[in-house]
This record gives sequence, structure tokens and C-alpha cells, in this order.
Amino acid sequence: MFAELSAHAAAIRDRLVDFMNEHVYPNERELLAPPPEDERWAPRPLAMALMAKAREAGLWNLFYNHGPEGAGLSNFEYAQLCEIFGRSLAAPELFNCNAPDVGNMELLAAYGSQEQKDQWLRPLLAGEIRSCFAMTEPAVASSDATNIETRIESDGNDYVINGRKWWVTGAPSQRCKVAIVMGKSDPSAPKHKQQSMILVPMDTPGLTVVRPLTVYGYEHAPLGHAEVDFKDVRVPARNMLLGEGRGFEIAQGRLGPGRIHHCMRFVGLAERAVESMCRRARSRSAFGSTLAEMGGVRQAIGQSRCEVEQARLVTLKAAWMMDKLGNKAARNDIAVAKIVVPSLAGAVIDRAIQLHGGAGLSHDFFLAEAFAETRFLRIGDGPDEVHREALARVELERQK
Ligand SMILES: Cc1cc2nc3c(=O)[nH]c(=O)nc-3n(C[C@H](O)[C@H](O)[C@H](O)COP(=O)(O)OP(=O)(O)OC[C@H]3O[C@@H](n4cnc5c(N)ncnc54)[C@H](O)[C@@H]3O)c2cc1C
Repeated sequence: MFAELSAHAAAIRDRLVDFMNEHVYPNERELLAPPPEDERWAPRPLAMALMAKAREAGLWNLFYNHGPEGAGLSNFEYAQLCEIFGRSLAAPELFNCNAPDVGNMELLAAYGSQEQKDQWLRPLLAGEIRSCFAMTEPAVASSDATNIETRIESDGNDYVINGRKWWVTGAPSQRCKVAIVMGKSDPSAPKHKQQSMILVPMDTPGLTVVRPLTVYGYEHAPLGHAEVDFKDVRVPARNMLLGEGRGFEIAQGRLGPGRIHHCMRFVGLAERAVESMCRRARSRSAFGSTLAEMGGVRQAIGQSRCEVEQARLVTLKAAWMMDKLGNKAARNDIAVAKIVVPSLAGAVIDRAIQLHGGAGLSHDFFLAEAFAETRFLRIGDGPDEVHREALARVELERQK
């Protein structure tokens, strides 16, 4: 479905499809293979070379519409392009469109001071460095962000940070140079004014990447996820984002668009799973017929088509609402997509795994890792229950 694409967006789409066919699919296994132990977190030459090619081809910062560094696409247009590169888990990084950097760049563009933009946004947009976002903590239920305990204390011209975070995506990478850290700057303030966000260079003394974490055993190197400790980490006061007590405000602004980008990619993964199902079903026979001739398999394919269409439509609607009414007004539509799409895409991919038999669970196909990705997003960026709760609040209020 390529509705309402401008000539500019359509031209990018065509280049993107060519790039995927020429450079991404043929290299996908190599890009996603676990690196050698001693090079786990180092930049990978193949990925770096493809990033340079993508940039040359004008396939860079496609998400970004705050300035000339981006492609100038609407959310509705970006959703359709994101679906194309979302078909491969190896692709988003190549176009400088991967989480959490996308959310961090959006955040810096919207809330950063000129100095913060010059220091961190510019090299992020250029793909020279990577970043991470440290909100979740092992010691508290972090789906309720008012629980966050990390302290950000003012001390002269500095802030001093103490606390422990985990599931910090991107932190283990050698290319990750800055963390955006959420913590309490004033525990005595009203509940939603206690938290702040602050920029912390990764080489600041006292910041320790304690251990990498895995998702169903996938380490996701060279970006990865990590537990990170902050012990008397001192940064200048100018690193504070927007001002003390503004952490919640920033979190809402950051997580909305970030959530919908995951959904856009998952539509691509699910679409590819249906294609893979059909190819597999036609190419294998059991008990006297091809799999494609079996009623149960046909039901699985038909059901999957229905679910991909549902996932795509709620995603495009949310993107369209963001364009027409702004991110804030679109927040219910974003929440609907965030709940519905990972489950639908996960169900489609799970069915595709079943149809592929043992092969579906192996690294020879993209399905196993894709399933892990969709499963994680029913928890990451806020668990489904929290988004359902928010939707219920709005619905109940509406019916008062
Ligand atoms: C792969 C991965 C990458 C991540 N990347 C990042 C990152 O880069 N930065 C970052 O800060 N965090 C990151 N996270 C963390 C993620 O955002 C949190 O795990 C998530 O917000 C939930 O917090 P929690 O794990 O503390 O779960 P908890 O808050 O302990 O919640 C546990 C469960 O309680 C239930 N629950 C909670 N609230 C309700 C409710 N209102 N009603 C009913 N049930 C409820 C839900 O089932 C929920 O899953 C990542 C997580 C994963 C798995």
C-alpha cells in the first residue's frame, strides 16, 4: 500500500527497495551473525561500509524532519518506507534509523539547547557516534516511571548521579558515546516533577557498563543491551535537558514517535513472514501433497494476511493522525498500534515458524530472531497492560 506518497518520497522508496535487494538481503546473515568474542562491541566494517553507501544514496535519517539533515518526510510517508527496511533486522542501523538513536535524536532536536545539539545531535545525525537511553532500573517496577530511584543531585556547577539502570540498549557498543539518563532531582516535588533527564558522556568516571543482557539468548551485538551502574558520576550543570523536573514531559515526547517506528518495522517483518510462508508451503511436500495444498496451512496463510492488513492500517492511521493533529493528539492511536502490532506481527511470525518446521527456529531464516523482537516489544517502551490502562482511562472519561 503506497498511498499519498509525494514524488520525493516515491523516489526515495524506489532507491530504498533497490538498496535492500542489492545490499541488505545478500548481506543479512553476515550482518546479524554473532561477531567474534573479542570484537563483540566493535564497529563492524561491513555495516560501516553499507552505512556510507546508504548515505551516498540519499537513504539517510529518513525519520528526521526537523531540518536539512533528514529526508523531509511526513510520518505517513515514513511509515511506508520504514515498513520496507523493517523487513530486515539488519537494516535500520544502515540508514541511521535504529532505536534508541532515533528517539534520542528526536529528543535532542525538540528539547536540546544549541550547545547540546552541537555536541551530540550533530554527530548522531552524521552517524559518527551512537547513544543510549537509561530509564529502566532493576530494583523497581519501571513501567511506572514515578518509581525511578536514580538520584541526580545538584552540587555547585555540576550534577552528581547515583543509581543502577538496566536494559540500556546500545550501551555496550564502542560507538556509544552518550547516555540520556532519567533520575530524581527533587524527591520532595509533586510526583511528576521529581524526575529530570541529563546527558552523560559514556567515558565519565563512575559510569560502568556492568554486563550485557540477552533477549532469548540474542545478544544483539554490536549494539546490545546492558546493565549500567552510576557511582558519583559528575557532569556539568549545562548537561541537564530542558530543566530540572522536566523528565516526564520529555519522556512523553520521546516515547510516542519511537513507539510507532517499531510498529512500522514490524509490519514489514510480518509481511516478509507471509511471503516466506508461501514460498515454503509451495516448495515442500508431506503425506502426498505440497504444504500449500493442505487446509490447515491455507488457513494459516489467510489468517496471517488478515493480521498484516490490520497491523498496517492501525500503524498508518496513527502516523496520519500524528501528521494531521500532532503527536499529543495522536497518543491514543499510537497506544493502539503499540499494543496491537507487536502481538499481530508476533502471531504471524510464530505461524511462519511453525510452517517452516525446524528450519524456522534456526539462524538460516530470519523468523526466530524476528519473533524475539516482536515479543520484546510487548514489554519494551511500556508493557501492553500500561497502554491498555491509559486507553481505558480515556474511554471511561469519554463516557462519563
Ligand atoms: C530488549 C529490551 C530493550 C529495552 N531497552 C530499553 C532502553 O533502551 N532504555 C530503557 O530505559 N529501558 C529499556 N527497556 C526496558 C523496558 O522499557 C521495561 O522493561 C518496561 O518498561 C517494563 O518495565 P519493568 O521491566 O520494570 O517491568 P515492571 O514494571 O516490573 O512490570 C512487570 C509487569 O507487570 C505488569 N504490569 C505493570 N503495570 C501494570 C498495570 N498498570 N496493569 C496491569 N499489569 C501491569 C505487566 O505485565 C508488566 O510486564 C528494554 C527492555 C527490553 C526487554
